[in-house]
Amino acid sequence: MNSVHVSGIGMTSQRTRERLVNRLKEKGIVNPKVLEIMASTPRHLFVDEAISHRAYEDTSLPIGMGQTISQPFIVARMSELLLDTGDMNKVLEVGTGSGYQTIILAQMFKDVFTIERVGPLQRMSQKRLRNLKIFNVHYRHGDGFKGWEDKAPFDAIIVTAAPENIPEALVEQLAEGGRMVIPVGAQNGVQELMVLHKVDGELQKSVLEQVRFVPLLGGVVD
Ligand code: SAM
Repeated sequence: MNSVHVSGIGMTSQRTRERLVNRLKEKGIVNPKVLEIMASTPRHLFVDEAISHRAYEDTSLPIGMGQTISQPFIVARMSELLLDTGDMNKVLEVGTGSGYQTIILAQMFKDVFTIERVGPLQRMSQKRLRNLKIFNVHYRHGDGFKGWEDKAPFDAIIVTAAPENIPEALVEQLAEGGRMVIPVGAQNGVQELMVLHKVDGELQKSVLEQVRFVPLLGGVVD
């Protein structure tokens, strides 16, 4: 597991981050580990400098290529749901995007395996995390619908874009006792955040709140 120490983070971002964490608490995030990680992780380094003054608003923001960095509340909520997982060794993330959720996972799990279909986003997030000296993340430029078969099974799987149906390959690659957190539903219809718990080879499904994610798309973009 890593923790993030970045030199040159001013007091201003520390204070704005603390304000964000207070908002997350007000909205129902309770896990102290998640709150502590979010209080020390520099989200402003995961967006373009031109909009970095908005990095600690509780909102999603554009990251280019028609994609977004997830809303901090959603990142916290999904991370909290994964912390109920028994083993915290291997997590698969589908949809690296800016790498912000990835760096949070890197502070919760021993190893993070992350897949992104859009080449420029994949390369940029990889560079960011290396600059922040995060070395327990393994990157793949590929189609997350297929998962990462040769690294399976995973103790946890998190999907940060919404498929219309739960991808079968991801279910197969979830370890016994493991949990998957995934938004499911059509882009212009209702999407639901789900937690799938694999018990004795069967999936126990809990449906949580309605959410709005970009769609999980097939294929890759160079
Ligand atoms: N957690 C990310 C963050 O905070 O930056 C959110 C990223 S964004 C909401 C979803 C990402 O999923 C996008 O970068 C998109 O390109 C990626 N994506 C969509 N379909 C994918 C697929 N089949 N495989 C891998 N990545 C995919």
